[in-house]
Amino acid sequence: VNSISLKEGEEPFLAQAREVLKFGCAVVVMAFDEQGQAESVERKLAICQRSYELLVDTVGFAPEDIIFDPNIFAVATGIEEHNGYGVAYIEATRQIKATLPHAMVSGGVSNVSFSFRGNNRVREAMHSVFLYHAVAAGMDLGIVNAGQLAVYAEIPDALRDAVEDVILNRRDDATERLLSLAEQYSGQGQRQANKADLEWRGWPVGKRLEHALVRGVDSYVVEDTEEARLAAERPLDVIEGPLMDGMNVVGDLFGAGKMFLPQVVKSARVMKKSVAHLLPFIDKEKEGGATRAKLVLATVKGDVHDIGKKIVGVVLQCNNFEVIDLGVMVPAEKILATAREIGADVIGLSGLITPSLDEMVHVASEMQRQNFSLPLLIGGATTSPAHTSVKIDPAYEGAVVYVKDASRAVGVVQALTGERCASFSDQAAKEHADRRRRHQGKTAKRPELALSDARANGFPWDWQAYTPPPPKSPGVRALPDYPLQELIRYIDWMPFFNAWEFHGRFPEILQDATVGEAVRSLYADAQRLLAQLVDEKWLTAAGVIGFFPANSTNDDLEIYTGEDRTEVRARLHHLRQQRRKRADLSNNCLADLIAPIGSGADYIGAFAVTAGIGLEEHVARFEAQHDDYTAIILKALADRLAEAFAERLHQRVRIEFWGYADDEELDNEALIAETYRGIRPAPGYPACPDHTEKATLWELLDVAHTAGIELTDNFAMLPGAAVSGWYFSHPGARYFAVGKVGLDQVEDYAARKGWTLAQTERWLSPNLGYDAVAA
Ligand code: SAH
Repeated sequence: VNSISLKEGEEPFLAQAREVLKFGCAVVVMAFDEQGQAESVERKLAICQRSYELLVDTVGFAPEDIIFDPNIFAVATGIEEHNGYGVAYIEATRQIKATLPHAMVSGGVSNVSFSFRGNNRVREAMHSVFLYHAVAAGMDLGIVNAGQLAVYAEIPDALRDAVEDVILNRRDDATERLLSLAEQYSGQGQRQANKADLEWRGWPVGKRLEHALVRGVDSYVVEDTEEARLAAERPLDVIEGPLMDGMNVVGDLFGAGKMFLPQVVKSARVMKKSVAHLLPFIDKEKEGGATRAKLVLATVKGDVHDIGKKIVGVVLQCNNFEVIDLGVMVPAEKILATAREIGADVIGLSGLITPSLDEMVHVASEMQRQNFSLPLLIGGATTSPAHTSVKIDPAYEGAVVYVKDASRAVGVVQALTGERCASFSDQAAKEHADRRRRHQGKTAKRPELALSDARANGFPWDWQAYTPPPPKSPGVRALPDYPLQELIRYIDWMPFFNAWEFHGRFPEILQDATVGEAVRSLYADAQRLLAQLVDEKWLTAAGVIGFFPANSTNDDLEIYTGEDRTEVRARLHHLRQQRRKRADLSNNCLADLIAPIGSGADYIGAFAVTAGIGLEEHVARFEAQHDDYTAIILKALADRLAEAFAERLHQRVRIEFWGYADDEELDNEALIAETYRGIRPAPGYPACPDHTEKATLWELLDVAHTAGIELTDNFAMLPGAAVSGWYFSHPGARYFAVGKVGLDQVEDYAARKGWTLAQTERWLSPNLGYDAVAA
C-alpha cells in the first residue's frame, strides 16, 4: 500500500481502497481520521460511517469485506479520561453493527489490560470479561493470546466483579479496588494440576458414572452400570438418571469451551458401552421412554470421507439425539428412503470433494420433488455458506442450514428440533436471501483479464537457457506393500489435530496452556494405536509412480508414447488464473512449468498412493465395541500415513527415481514447509481443480491394478486414505490457486475437454463465478 503512487489531487484513502479492491481483498479500517484516533463513541461511529459510505458507495466495496477496528485503549491507567475506553469500544461496536449492515468489527484486545503488565492472571480475566461483553455487542474478530484467556465462568467472583467494574466503568473507585485485589493474584497465571487418584471409586454409583462420563474413563463402566441397574427400579432409569446427568455435564462443559472434541468423543464411548450393557434388559414394550429427535447423516454419493461427519454424529448422540449414520457414497434415494422409513427429524449431508457440492444440490431438489419438509444440514470441507445459500437453499423449500463444524452442530439441531424451530428457520432463510443478494453482481464487479491477456502474462521462463532434467528411471514403477515403519517419521501431525478441531502449530500445541492437556492425551492415544497398527500390520500401503515425456501447448500438456515425441498418448488439461494481477506477478497455469512443444525435451511425473488397504475391517471392529473414539483415530491415522507416504515417495522421486536433487537433505519440518525443488499438485485441488483429470492419471499408471485404488463416480479415491497427483520438477514451481475463471475460459476449456454445458457446470462449479453459472 505504501508504494501506491497517487495521481495529482487524489485522496489517499480512496486510492488505497481502490488498490485493495483490485485484488479482491477485505480491508481493516481503523477509526482514525485527519484529527487522529477516535476515543469517544461518537467519533468512532462517525469515522466508521464516513469510511463505510466511501468504501461502499464511492469505491464499490462489498460491505461484508469491511472490517472496522474502533480502537481498544488501555483502561485503569490512573488517568481518569481513560476509564471510559472499554465502554466506548463496546458501545461503538453495538452501534456499528446496528447501523452499518454486514460490516464486521475487530480489535486488539490485549491493549485493554496494558496497565497490568506482569500480572497475567488479572490480564487474562480482563481479556475474557472484555470479550464477553464486546462479543455480546457484536464484535466479530479480535487479536488476543488465546492460550492466555480465562474461561469467563471460571474467574473467581471477586476478581470478575472487580474487573467488570473497570471494563464497564461502573464505579469511580474501580481502578483502586482492582489494584488492591490484583496483588492476591500476582504470580499465579497457571491453573493447578489435577490430582489423578482413585478416590472417586468410593463414591456412590451415580456419581461414579457421572465422573467416568466426564473424564472419559471406560475401565469400570460395565461393572458400575450393572451395579446401578441392580439398584434401579427399571434399567431405563439408569439411562435417564445418571447417564443423562453425566452427559448433560459434558454437553455444558463442551458448550462453554471447557471440554474439547476428543474428550467428548471419549465420554460418548463410556455412554455407549453403558447403554450397550443395559439394552438387553430394557423391555421395549413397557418402557417407551421419551422419544428423541432422529437424524439421518450421510456422506453423499461419489464421496468417501467421513471423519468430520462421524465426529458430528457422536457429539449429537452425546446430546441425546438418535443418529442413523448411513456411511459414505450414499445415493439420494437411500438417504430419503431411510429418512421416511424411520421418521427422521433432520437430514445431514457431508462431503469433502468439490463434485459433492452438486450432489448436495441434487439431494435438496429430490427432497423438494418428494415433498419433504424437514430441515437439511450441510457440512464438510468443501461446503460453504455461499454455496449453501446460492445453490442448495433455492432448490428446497424446507430449512437448509450450513454447519461449520462439530461444535456448532448441537446448537443447530437443538434449535431445529425444539420450540425455536420456526424462528430459527426464518432467520436462516433470511440469511440465505441476504447472501444471495450480496453475491449477485459480485463476480461482475471483480475485474478479470481476458483469457488471451492472462495467457500473455503466463509464468515467464527462458526455455533456451534451461534444460529440464530427464528422469533416471523412466516409465511406471509399482511399490506394492510399502513398509509402514518407514513412513512414521514423515507424518505431518497438525492436520490430525485439526480433524479434532484443535488449531495451532505442532509440536508447540502440546504445551498450550488451554488445550495442551487434551492434545497430549489424544497424541498419546494416537501414538499407541499407531505403534500397534504398524506392529500388527493392520494396514497395507501401496503406491505407483511414473515419468513420461511431455510438452506443453497453450494450457494443455501432451504426453508422448516415446522419446521421439511423435505419438501423443494422453492430453492433460489445465486452467489458468484469470484475476487481474500486480504488474510483477504472472497469471499461472501448471502447463507453464513444462517446456512448450519445439523447445526441447521435458517430462512430467505422476503418482498415486494409499495406506488404507485393510482399514475398514479394523474400524468396524472398534465400532462394534462402541468405541468410536478409537475408530476415528484409526481413520485419521490412515489418512496421515497416506500423506506421509506421498511425502516420502516425493522425496525418493527427487533424490532417486527422477533424481534431479540427489544432494537434497531435509528434515520433516523442511519437507512439510515444501522447501524442496518441485511440487506434486493433486487433481481436484486449487492449482488443478478439475477432478476428472484423475481418469487420465489412472490410465497412465494403471492405478487400479498397480496400487489397488479405485475411482468413484465423482472421482474420489477408494480407499479414502489415498493421495494422487502430478510431479513437476521445474525449479520455479509453486502451489497456487486457479480461482474463479471467466466465461471465455470456461468455453475454451469445455471445447478442449469435449464437454457439454452441463458437464462443465458440474465439474468446474467451484471455479465458476455464480454469475457465470446464471449466464
Ligand atoms: N503435509 C500435509 C500436506 C498438505 S497439502 C499433510 O500431511 O496433510 C497435501 C497435498 O495437497 C500436497 O502434497 C499436494 O499434493 C496438494 N496440494 C497442496 N496445495 C495444492 C494446490 N494449490 N494445488 C494442487 N494441489 C495442492
